[in-house]
This record gives sequence, structure tokens and C-alpha cells, in this order.
Amino acid sequence: MSRFWSAVVHGLTPYVPGEQPKLDQLVKLNTNEHPYGPSPRALEAIHAATNDTLRLYPDPNADALKAALARRHGLQPAQIFVGNGSDEVLAHAFMALLKHGQPLWFPDITYSFYPVYCGLYGVPHQTIPLADDYTLRTEDYLPRDGQQAGAIIFPNPNAPTGRLLPLAEVERIVAGNPDAVVLVDEAYVDFGGDSAIPLVDKYPNLLVVHTFSKSRSLAGLRVGFAAGHLALIEGLERVKNSFNSYPLGKLALAGAVASVEDEAYFQDSCRKVIATRETLVGQLSALGFQVLPSAANFIFARHPERDAAQLAAALRERAIIVRHFKQARIDQFLRITVGTDAQCSTLVQALQEILAT
Ligand code: PMP
Repeated sequence: MSRFWSAVVHGLTPYVPGEQPKLDQLVKLNTNEHPYGPSPRALEAIHAATNDTLRLYPDPNADALKAALARRHGLQPAQIFVGNGSDEVLAHAFMALLKHGQPLWFPDITYSFYPVYCGLYGVPHQTIPLADDYTLRTEDYLPRDGQQAGAIIFPNPNAPTGRLLPLAEVERIVAGNPDAVVLVDEAYVDFGGDSAIPLVDKYPNLLVVHTFSKSRSLAGLRVGFAAGHLALIEGLERVKNSFNSYPLGKLALAGAVASVEDEAYFQDSCRKVIATRETLVGQLSALGFQVLPSAANFIFARHPERDAAQLAAALRERAIIVRHFKQARIDQFLRITVGTDAQCSTLVQALQEILAT
């Protein structure tokens, strides 16, 4: 608290990211990073970009990255917006596209940054409860009883549940709300879902946001992007150009372009994570955990006889970190990032020991 703070700062409830401990030798399964490194071509490109042209500002329009992403997704470069992590892309979207007189709708259990951005930008919002099985019900997102959303946002797969809404259902929500922007946050879609990006030509109200932090294993580089209709992208550019001309540095731009161009590495590294996830789900189920179906690089699981906070604490004593949310409806779950096969074996063995005590 300080008398020097603005009224806005007094009213903020900031987002709390998962811990990034400084210790080595941890099995770190708490922030959904990819267990294998980025494409070697991305690393080479970053090294090559480390030269004396760093004295110059980067391209404010990130043309090379937009072109690479447009080629990859069959769009025009002007349908792509890039930012410093998808969090920044989302932040600009809250300001540019999701703030209206009518409330923004999002699930009661979802990415906890959404209410934070609502607080920062003064976006009226309304949460919509997920079903008892933690699925998102399409009907709840269609205009009803004369009520209509100002805009809609949800992650697909949802976080932290990992549950996927089939693409046909996503399309029903987009088609059913022609007067509202529908933002689909596909941070985890490459681990088992069909992206809605191919629908952006058909629906001028659809914005799809992706990140390089998960499936491209570049969380440290901070790159995210949005794909959508030209008018939506223009709205985002207007906010970005009123905030920071150069959100992506030269190293980030070089690494991101090379990552997008290495499709084989990308596909292969996602496949490995999916295979490990399926093994892990089987092993945890055998230990008595109830595991929600996951299309992400994490799983959401609870043990009917053990308190989740205590399980998380017992794992921590064994240098294994997972995420536990003290939130109604999900406080008996653990969110566990899919690590390497070896990390997941260490986790399963530790849980076996803990459950035996
Ligand atoms: N969306 C969701 C659903 C996430 O879980 C995350 C990661 N915390 C993000 C967006 C942001 O990712 P980044 O800023 O690293 O791109």
C-alpha cells in the first residue's frame, strides 16, 4: 500500500503464476512447460540473431513471423497478430475486443488470468458454471432468455481441467453469437484438439489465440499470436501501437520463425508428450486417481481418499512440484504437467509411496 498508488492499482488483484523455483534437481510439473527443448533450428536462429544488429530496434510489425504463421495456417499475414506471450495478446484483446456494455462470459473454472484482465481493464463479466463433469455446455453460451454476451472467452482445451470441447461445438458457439466476439484460447490445442483457426475466414467474430510456450517449448522466449478477421486484428494492432511498438525482440522473432518452419520437430515433440500423457493417465488411474480426460500437456486428477493439498505437500517434500488451486469445486484436484517419461515415473513412484502411508 502506498499513497503514491493510483486508485486503479489499489483495486487490482494480480495474477499469481506457478512457482519458478531456483533449485536444481526438482521434478517440476507445475507450469505446463514442454519437457523437451525447442527445435534446434530455433536455437540456431536465436544464436545467429545475436549479433551487432541488436543495436537496432526490431521490426515493429513482425512481418517475417506473421508471414511464417500465415503460411503455416493458410491465412493472409494481415489476419495474424503477434505479441509478447499469449498473455499479452489476451490482454490487448480484453481491451480491444472483449470490453462492452454487456458482460463478457467465461467459465467459472478456467484460466485465472481472465478475471485479472477484467479487473485491470474494467471489463464487466459473468462466469458460467461448467457442468458437474467439468465440461463446457454449448447451450450455456448461446443467447438465451433475451440475454446475450458482450463477448465470450474460453480456453480449448480448458485450463486447468484439460477437457476439450469438440470443434463442431466451438463452431456452434461462434455461429450462435454473430454479434459477439468469441475468443478461443488454444494454448494447449496442439496436444490433442482440432484448432478453430480454419474457421476464421468463415466467422468475422472469431479470434483464436495460440502460444509458443507449450507445444513449441519456447516459454522463455515469450511469443504468442492471434488469428482472426482483418477487422479484429486491426483492433488489436491499434491497442498494441498505443502501448508498445516493439513487443517482440529480434531474438524472439528469429526463434519463433525458425520454430514455425520446423514442422517435423513440432509434430514429433507433441506426439511424445501425448504418448507420455496416456501412460501417466493409466498409471494414476491404477493408483485410484480419478483423472479427467485431457487433451492438453497436463492432467487434472483427484484421489477419492486423499486431500489434494496434502498430496501436493507430500510430493513437494520429495522435490516434485505440481499445481494445486485453492478454489471451490476444484480444491481436491492436482494439476500435473506431463514431463519426460523419467519424470512421470518418479512422480508415480512417489505417489505410490505416499498412498501406502
Ligand atoms: N492461456 C492459457 C489457458 C494458459 O494456461 C496460459 C499459460 N499460463 C496462457 C494463455 C499464457 O501463456 P503465454 O503467456 O506463456 O503464451
